[in-house]
Amino acid sequence: METAVFRLDGVTKRYGDLLALDQVTLDVGVNEYVSFLGPSGSGKTTLLRVIAGFEAPDTGRVFFEGRDITHLPAHERGIGFVFQNFALFPHLTVRQNVGFGLAFGKNPLPAAEVDRRSAEMIAMVGLAGMEDRGVDQISGGQRQRVALARTLAMQPKLVLLDEPLGALDANLRGRMRNELRAIRERLGVTFLHVTGSENEALAMGDRVVVLDRGRIIQSGTSDEIYDTPASPDVAHYLNRFNLFDGTLADGQFRGQFGTVAVPGARRAARDVYAVGYDRMRVLPLSSSADGPKLKATFVASEYLGSSIMNFFEVDGGGVVEMEHHLSLGAPETYAPKQDYLLTWNPEHAIVFGREAR
Ligand code: ADP
Ligand code: MG
Repeated sequence: METAVFRLDGVTKRYGDLLALDQVTLDVGVNEYVSFLGPSGSGKTTLLRVIAGFEAPDTGRVFFEGRDITHLPAHERGIGFVFQNFALFPHLTVRQNVGFGLAFGKNPLPAAEVDRRSAEMIAMVGLAGMEDRGVDQISGGQRQRVALARTLAMQPKLVLLDEPLGALDANLRGRMRNELRAIRERLGVTFLHVTGSENEALAMGDRVVVLDRGRIIQSGTSDEIYDTPASPDVAHYLNRFNLFDGTLADGQFRGQFGTVAVPGARRAARDVYAVGYDRMRVLPLSSSADGPKLKATFVASEYLGSSIMNFFEVDGGGVVEMEHHLSLGAPETYAPKQDYLLTWNPEHAIVFGREAR
């Protein structure tokens, strides 16, 4: 990592009995794009609010560009924030919204400079030509861009984004993701992006930080997190693995799919066998395959753009997902209510267990 521009050191935040942030320590480098992923209530928004200065931590310190800013007021931090509900001024135009902080903020700029910078930011987020529209005369996606332009116009060195794409449809979300990356690269600012979507986190972040009950349970590149989730919980939040309960003993995992040799396992509080959706194979029921086997009934498939998800119901309960990437060729089709045999290469499984070291 390049030199840390930003650092959280042992930050804890309580609301009554509830520990919203529990000893969070994090270094963020210059020009990094960090995605925060975690279930609802895991502390993502609280973390951004502490960084922005809207909340003071109970313990711990916040450093920004080498300065201790733990008790610095929000408006003196030079940190930009795009909220989930990006509150724009409804009676102002696009241009007036973007220029508002420049014209009326702590260090007001001359009108010509406000216009110049606003125009630059409006162009950057792809809204040139819409300057004079009211923000009630543009689409939700365009309003999101106005909110982003308004934040970027203040030239923050650190930009906090709290589920900014949540309100957009899937198509627009994909486009905004690419634009956010491009903007980040052009401006050389650091982005901290909270998302409830595992796909977004894996697609956006140079680094993904996974939060659970106020604690960082894993931090790494998208590939690291996907290839080696640190715990069954991380694997669960990634929403890319079938997770099977069972028992790990003497290097073998016993589950509903049979007993399978486990070459290596990761230590965890419970025994869990994880197989990536895209590692599953579907065979006719009559196949005689070695290794793990699950009899399952095909339920439905769902088209996701670059892949197809197939859902199977397993004998004895539970749904297993199988993903087919369209880049690998045309998908097989399966007959609803028909039984199949699901299997996988055991070397591709990720196994967690109490006996592992
Ligand atoms: P996330 O953004 O990951 O969904 P939050 O940071 O909003 O989670 O919330 C973390 C926990 O702190 C939740 O249990 C939430 O109910 C609680 N919480 C957040 N803000 C407050 C507050 N102002 N007062 C009391 N509890 C709060
Ligand atoms: Mg939140």
